[in-house]
Amino acid sequence: MDRKIRLISTDFDGTLVAHDSDPVLDPGCIELIGQLQRHGALWTINTGRSVELLESGLLDFEFPIRPDFILTSERDVFRPSHNGGKWEPFGDWNDRCAQAHAELFNSAQSVLTEIIDFVNRKTKARVIYLGPAAEGVVATSEEEMDRITEFVEQVRIGQPEFNYQRNTIYLRFCHADYHKGAALAELSRLINIPREEIFAAGDHHNDVSMLDGRFAAMPACPANAIDQVKDAVRSARGYVAEREFGAGVREALLHFLNGDALKR
Ligand SMILES: [Mg+2]
Repeated sequence: MDRKIRLISTDFDGTLVAHDSDPVLDPGCIELIGQLQRHGALWTINTGRSVELLESGLLDFEFPIRPDFILTSERDVFRPSHNGGKWEPFGDWNDRCAQAHAELFNSAQSVLTEIIDFVNRKTKARVIYLGPAAEGVVATSEEEMDRITEFVEQVRIGQPEFNYQRNTIYLRFCHADYHKGAALAELSRLINIPREEIFAAGDHHNDVSMLDGRFAAMPACPANAIDQVKDAVRSARGYVAEREFGAGVREALLHFLNGDALKR
């Protein structure tokens, strides 16, 4: 397969960053992304991290390259700032997104209360608050988070616009219309790069929305991705790498580039 990759959307933790490995970053992967950037491709990190946590991650893991855009908290779209700070909202998406969430959490009060009650009574997990509002849940194990998402699936039947993003033992409440895939679609619209020229890679539940083929025609995952992600990537005729983390992302990029990153 030989296609042009104009936009690269990568998850951060568990995809580019291998927390328990040494080195944490795969040098070949970072080098290839940098090379593609120099040849005109754009790179966005698409993460559950907030802007601040992503910035500290880029610093902590000593990334030698900078993303062109960042999609954060599984929903917001940022571009480099033209007036001071590092990043600024790209268009009015983040405002519309915040508005939709304010309305959702208002109308879904009873669903939220049921979930918080369940978490507090039936699990050792912790509800995380952002100011007065419940933002998500941190479980003590993957099994415990399985039980929590099962419960959430039951109670959201009556309120389908109420959804969640799960990444390992972390869960964030959200509006069903906002996820990594939707944020990627908005970026793709803003910079006018079609789905056919977008590569995306991720490893966990919260990545499925950008790997199911709707918003990126070249979805991929490293070998360490969970089965649900591998299934989504296969169904979308994407690439499941044999190598883990960054080495797997590099392998997938080369697959779609037909082995020659610099041919174009
Ligand atoms: Mg991840």
